[in-house]
Amino acid sequence: MKEEIKKIFRGDVEDSEETLKKYSRDASIFEIRPKLVLFPKDSEDVKNLVKWVAVNKSKYPELSITARCAGTDMSGGAIGESLVLDFTRYMNKLVGGPLPLENKSKWEITVQPGMFYRDFEKITLAKGLILPCYTASKSLNAIGGMYGNNSAGERTLKYGKMEDYVLEAKVIFADGNEYIVKPLSKNELDKKLKENSFDSGVYWGVSNLINEHQDEIRLAKPNVHKNSAGYYIWNVEDRGPKTKNGAERYVFDLNKLLVGSQGTLGIATEVTLKLLPNNKYSKLVAIFMNDLAPLGRLVDEILTENPETLETYDDKTIKLAVKFFPDFLKNKGLIGMFKFMWSFLPEFFMLVPGFFGGGFPKLVVLAEFAGENEEIVNKKCLNLVEKIKGFKLKVHTTRSESESEKYWDIRRESFALLRKHVRGKHTAPFIDDIIVQPKFLPKFLPELNSILSKYDLIFTLAGHAGDGNFHIIPLMDFKRPDAAKIIMELSDKVYDLVIRYHGSITAEHNDGIIRTPYLEKMYGKEIAVIFSQIKKIFDPKNIFNPGKKVPTENMGGTKKYIAEHIAIEHNAPHHS
Ligand SMILES: Cc1cc2nc3c(=O)[nH]c(=O)nc-3n(C[C@H](O)[C@H](O)[C@H](O)COP(=O)(O)OP(=O)(O)OC[C@H]3O[C@@H](n4cnc5c(N)ncnc54)[C@H](O)[C@@H]3O)c2cc1C
Repeated sequence: MKEEIKKIFRGDVEDSEETLKKYSRDASIFEIRPKLVLFPKDSEDVKNLVKWVAVNKSKYPELSITARCAGTDMSGGAIGESLVLDFTRYMNKLVGGPLPLENKSKWEITVQPGMFYRDFEKITLAKGLILPCYTASKSLNAIGGMYGNNSAGERTLKYGKMEDYVLEAKVIFADGNEYIVKPLSKNELDKKLKENSFDSGVYWGVSNLINEHQDEIRLAKPNVHKNSAGYYIWNVEDRGPKTKNGAERYVFDLNKLLVGSQGTLGIATEVTLKLLPNNKYSKLVAIFMNDLAPLGRLVDEILTENPETLETYDDKTIKLAVKFFPDFLKNKGLIGMFKFMWSFLPEFFMLVPGFFGGGFPKLVVLAEFAGENEEIVNKKCLNLVEKIKGFKLKVHTTRSESESEKYWDIRRESFALLRKHVRGKHTAPFIDDIIVQPKFLPKFLPELNSILSKYDLIFTLAGHAGDGNFHIIPLMDFKRPDAAKIIMELSDKVYDLVIRYHGSITAEHNDGIIRTPYLEKMYGKEIAVIFSQIKKIFDPKNIFNPGKKVPTENMGGTKKYIAEHIAIEHNAPHHS
């Protein structure tokens, strides 16, 4: 197979032990060994490979392609049993931009999928611009993975997810041709439907499916601020309010479905994104809670002040940060290091009995405000502090950038710290991304806690309080014979609870191997069937990342597959 592929593929084709081992892991709990890892030079390579796989699928039935960027996927979305296609080695370039869009308040940029976000951000920030759906993994991940997962982050509360920033993409469909996917007007869609091409068939299939199942689809939409579970069929057809001249607004955008589909419907080779001006000043109001009961009301109150972000982390996260404090000092420079150490003093004092009731607060809530100048930002912070006085909580407004940085470092780095440091036990992201409406939190969180407390597990809780999205990361010893049983049992119990509160089992981290078996539980049989029809329309031979989003018999998507593929030796994989 390797020699056959080398004839049609100009990039690197590797199967050394070291490479296969590295690519058997992403940031999930799984280990799945690929047959070959390929590094495409350009989109011709990707086209040729997809064509070759489609032709040879009957000869090698297990053939498939898993697109991969930085491999930080926490759901097992970036690993597969056959060919893994890594974009970060060569297809990581800037294609064009940033260029201003009509009124200069927005900009656009076109990049290849393998560009790391950290490199991308250097280009945008140099122009005072930002892609505001960046993730907590922004120092590790790449643009193609954000496209694949419909990623989101701390600013999603105000600015939305990746799907809101994809203007256009070049995508290779299952016939091995590259298509430009962008929003189509009614006339453009009608024209597309008349063409005699593979993508025309896809447009036909999807628009028919939406029309035939309008009611089921509408009723199945989870009522939460963000959702990465299943195929996101809801926003493909946008029949918005009438335009100024009374015409019907109609937009049909397949990117709404492709973004977040984990490379199961097609492979993106170029992405054009919308950028926004980055706010010049920002400040944090940190609120310390010892009792979680008022959290829902507090979140509601803070949201009325329209913060940029509303984040949270728990006492175990702070403990971890204090314990592994030297990790935070890396890359800060000498002066930065001292400033940072100084800002960390209150956390050290919390170790001393008598300060903050002799320990860490149960939860820290961070509300960030931003604006054009310091005065505006200070005013917003003061307003909030005044507004939440009635809660009688300890509140602190940050005074310097390094102090804000401390809170952000703790919030963003906790998962990475856990993965690196705790011996014998390993981070187990399987109920890592649940979301319910914030108004349910006062009831939901105690119920969640009561489920978790029945298990002898250490876990950290951090997340996006403003959206009601929490990341629960237990630590587990995967050598325990009952590890798989606990994972399955807890997933069932926690997802039942989430569904009872009309939430979603994944707000941003996506389904992959870990959640695909639970999609039917969340959406019901009818929608699960619609998902498999979507997969068939795009990928009739099941060559793109099988077993994710739609269950297969032997290539993933079942609880049995989860149990059989949990990595026993959990050395945190190296990310580029
Ligand atoms: C410490 C840590 C923190 C995290 N925080 C967040 C967070 O705040 N928000 C969040 O959303 N996620 C978060 N994640 C999960 C993950 O980092 C993001 O989803 C990220 O965007 C994935 O990017 P990646 O480059 O690593 O993609 P990969 O892991 O390589 O791939 C992700 C998915 O995209 C698909 N894909 C890759 N390339 C393409 C392509 N060219 N075309 C089509 N599909 C493709 C893959 O098949 C896979 O299913 C976190 C992970 C870690 C380890």
